Amino acid sequence: MKRWMMLVTAIPLVAAACGGGDAGGSTVTFRAERPAFDGVRAFQDLETQVAFGPRIPGSPGHTEQLEWLETQLRALADTVFLDPFEHVTAEGDELALTNVIARFGPADGSRLLLLTHWDTRPKADQASGEADRELPVPGANDGASGTAILLELARMFNEQRPPGGVELLFTDGEDYGPSTADMFLGARHYVGGIGSENPPAYGILLDMVGDADPSFPIEAYSMEGAGQVVQRIWGIAADLGYRRFFPMDQTSRVVDEHIQFIDAGIPVADIIDFEYGPAHAFWHTPRDVPANTSAQTLFMVGDVVAEVVYRNR
Ligand SMILES: [Zn+2]
Repeated sequence: MKRWMMLVTAIPLVAAACGGGDAGGSTVTFRAERPAFDGVRAFQDLETQVAFGPRIPGSPGHTEQLEWLETQLRALADTVFLDPFEHVTAEGDELALTNVIARFGPADGSRLLLLTHWDTRPKADQASGEADRELPVPGANDGASGTAILLELARMFNEQRPPGGVELLFTDGEDYGPSTADMFLGARHYVGGIGSENPPAYGILLDMVGDADPSFPIEAYSMEGAGQVVQRIWGIAADLGYRRFFPMDQTSRVVDEHIQFIDAGIPVADIIDFEYGPAHAFWHTPRDVPANTSAQTLFMVGDVVAEVVYRNR
């Protein structure tokens, strides 16, 4: 989804802090006691979402997905609520949008926020062929992947309660566009509504987390605005043997939903794959399909996030 991105070779900001670990092998020093993350089931959820069709606000697929997501979560979480809101775009389109929130544990104490967007982009504006740019993005990676991981985590939290409160936020209108004036709408709405309510202590944003050829370098705004969260995520990824896929010696800078939270004083780190397909060729194109994503990648990211949650004592 992101509008601006650039790859930057960076100083290994957290490598020293995280210490230990191997060069990407499989030595696991410690693993929290918790259920395993089911990457195959998460992948099935990814396929289910893509089968609804594009999840563009106002489309049948958007309506179907919302009903499906709510039904799934109501069977799993302690509290589920829909937060509908409206937005008028720069071009005058009136959008009916809905954030979906599922909570585990008490809402009044400190809680961890896990978020992702569930909508998909109306037009494949990065496609190479002109005609293709009018097509919708299928959103296997950009929309369905993060949603699938959070849903599978909800099953894990239902099976074994996480230590402390956890809130899952599925944002709508993240990828509407075409410009950033009409993007990140669900995050803006959520942050704008926090007011005097007890805000989440910190958060993790998942975006484009299903690429079959994954790489999750540290995102620079996250490092600057949520450094401790970044250290925790990338340290645990290395600890679990995923250092090769969560490199600490590279970074990229991506405008994404986490900026809304960081600006509001809530540290949120973005786990995002900036390189989807050769030269990012699948991003915002009709090629964002399940065949270019994998259960293994969903497993790895789900495993890392689960470990962050269950080590959080
Ligand atoms: Zn997108």
